[in-house]
Amino acid sequence: MKKKLKKNKKIIGIILIAIVFFAVLKSQGNSEYENLGDDFRVHYIDVGQGDSILVQSGEEYMLIDGGKNVAADTVVNYLKSQNVKKLKYVIGTHPHEDHIGGLDDVIDTFDVENVIMPNVTHNTKSFEDVLDSIMNKGLTITPAVSGERYALGDAELLILAPNGDGYKDLNDYSVVARVQYGNTSFMFTGDAEGISEKEMIDVYGSSLRTDVLKLGHHGSTTSTTNDFLELVNPSVAVITVGKDNTYGHPHKEIIERLEKNNIRIYRTDLDGNILATSDGNSVEFSDGVSVDGNKDTIIDIVFKLFDIFSDM
Ligand SMILES: [Zn+2]
Repeated sequence: MKKKLKKNKKIIGIILIAIVFFAVLKSQGNSEYENLGDDFRVHYIDVGQGDSILVQSGEEYMLIDGGKNVAADTVVNYLKSQNVKKLKYVIGTHPHEDHIGGLDDVIDTFDVENVIMPNVTHNTKSFEDVLDSIMNKGLTITPAVSGERYALGDAELLILAPNGDGYKDLNDYSVVARVQYGNTSFMFTGDAEGISEKEMIDVYGSSLRTDVLKLGHHGSTTSTTNDFLELVNPSVAVITVGKDNTYGHPHKEIIERLEKNNIRIYRTDLDGNILATSDGNSVEFSDGVSVDGNKDTIIDIVFKLFDIFSDM
């Protein structure tokens, strides 16, 4: 009899915790970020084959990559057209030319506060030009450390990778960054490939969940593994890629993988510059499409409950 009572108490306890948990979850889901304006913008700049992304949060700006050397003017002019005077952060995801090519011109032209790069060098003129510009401005490189957080206006930047070193391919040194603004989130992966994705899964697990994912390595099959895509579970994928590039990017298998998962796709080769605006609750794209941020599916909720109960 006593045993039964104890068991009943435990069941009632579990039910009570579940009710409280659902109530908290529901209130979180409904909490509107009313104090956040819609002055958070992500510009995926069309630089042909290569990456260059401007993130604006209030009065503060961050540039992730600067396209190829030939795209330097495109990037500099785009930033000027947005009235950028100062960049709080410049991230050079990795030393390949299609990412850091234009960064020397950017650093020469604008005030720059912090340059974040992975701890790896590359013996090319493009890379040395960037180092020269950094030196000439009296800046030093802040090495990208997984787990570091930085503020950008009301948004928070979290470095997710690299999580190791000694990689065979420079792509896996790519700085991967996740930016959270209210309930909405964006991930920028550089050219990180399967090895780095696996490491991020091991370190961050389900907290990789992000609304808008910039695909790794221009939509190559070497990135966007099934396991990674499943955990990030984005509503929208952005592919930064040049028209008729010689690599065949984005690869057909990746497009099919995204379509199978009902992920909306934007591509700089087809859409040109892509602008995403967030008010902290939903993300609106320049074509008027809008997606809600941080949507917990019923499966996510069940998994969270399961986690809590298995700890009891
Ligand atoms: Zn690249």
